Amino acid sequence: MELTVQQNCPSCGAAIEVHEAERLVQCPFCGVRNYRISRGLCRFVLPDKAPDSIPREEIFYAPYLRFKGNVFSCKGREVQQRVVDITHLGVESTSLPPTLGLRPQAMKVLLLDQENAGYFLRQSVKAITILEKAAQLTMLDSEQNQEPFYHRAYIGETISYIYLPLYIHDNILHDAVTNKGLARSGSTIELEKKRCRFQPQWRPHFLATLCPSCGGALDGEGDSLILSCHTCNTSWEEAGGSFRSIPWQRVPALHRDATYLPFWKIEVQVTGVVMESFGDFLRLTNQPLVVRPEHDRMPLCFWIPAFKIRPRIFLNLARSMTVAQRHLVPGEATMAGSLHPVTLARTEAVQALKTVLAEAALNKRELLPLLPGISFHPRATDLVYLPFASSGQDLVQEQTMLSVAGAVLRAGRAL
Ligand SMILES: [Zn+2]
Ligand SMILES: [Zn+2]
Repeated sequence: MELTVQQNCPSCGAAIEVHEAERLVQCPFCGVRNYRISRGLCRFVLPDKAPDSIPREEIFYAPYLRFKGNVFSCKGREVQQRVVDITHLGVESTSLPPTLGLRPQAMKVLLLDQENAGYFLRQSVKAITILEKAAQLTMLDSEQNQEPFYHRAYIGETISYIYLPLYIHDNILHDAVTNKGLARSGSTIELEKKRCRFQPQWRPHFLATLCPSCGGALDGEGDSLILSCHTCNTSWEEAGGSFRSIPWQRVPALHRDATYLPFWKIEVQVTGVVMESFGDFLRLTNQPLVVRPEHDRMPLCFWIPAFKIRPRIFLNLARSMTVAQRHLVPGEATMAGSLHPVTLARTEAVQALKTVLAEAALNKRELLPLLPGISFHPRATDLVYLPFASSGQDLVQEQTMLSVAGAVLRAGRAL
């Protein structure tokens, strides 16, 4: 579920409301569009309702890590997937709730973007420990499934901090959102030793959305990770605090009113197994088709959806498009309307490669045990928009005839 976030417009300072996944923030007051860059994790605060008798500087904040994404596991002869959406206390304490439960979704959270009077407890539980725990918890059948474990990947993940405000009154530790007592204050003395003020590096940073190449306005939807310039036909991703041009193409549609869905075409070098060409991929995964000489001349590329969608469908689509790439035709770098926004980052797509190989294998019993010894090294990545024609409830890819349900695609925007 997505959080509703209250923040200040980076241009005019007005209080505005956005969805958590929105990177491109358009201010309804000044009209300026700013793009939030991804340096560090986002920090949110649950709004407190502490009584006025509590001085603001006595309010302190406990960090909870929020993880939202998909976990894929390769175990025995299976590739399993789960959606995970959890918060977990980031300090070791028995006085504080272990999780925030549904509270962040029930209220607007505030983006922590400036110094406030209170102080912050330092995180002492590692993020990876929380992630591993989440993965274990969600693999419901992991207890019963004693088969050997080969690989796990976290994909499409959002990791952020949500702070719970607290205060001490009459020697009792209080939750400042509900004003309920949690424990005797003695239990927090250890925690309070490890505290700090707001750190300047926590402040979110924003970029003006102008094309670095031609100065035109960059285009994109709120949740787009890639912005497009329709004036000079370029695509831009944010890296290290500025926009960087990325190689991209669009395969022209045969039908009018086509929708273009973005895919990361990742050319890889693989070690640990003999797989140097598309032909090798077909052989290794035991695809039921004749491997032709032209398949051996094709580079080894994986086609990973560049948009968020339910994990089962994500994996299916990545597998089928990678196998069906032999039917695709070259594209060109010209813009069109109806480009579906890129909502899955290139780095996340790279994380998915091994799981997609496992999913593609028809001989899972033989291939999955090889996974721990296999490494993927991306050589080149292209963003490719493929044309999908609408056919009833479905969108059908014009060259490969692979389809995706429109409703599933829309639901993916909220993942
Ligand atoms: Zn504004
Ligand atoms: Zn431009």
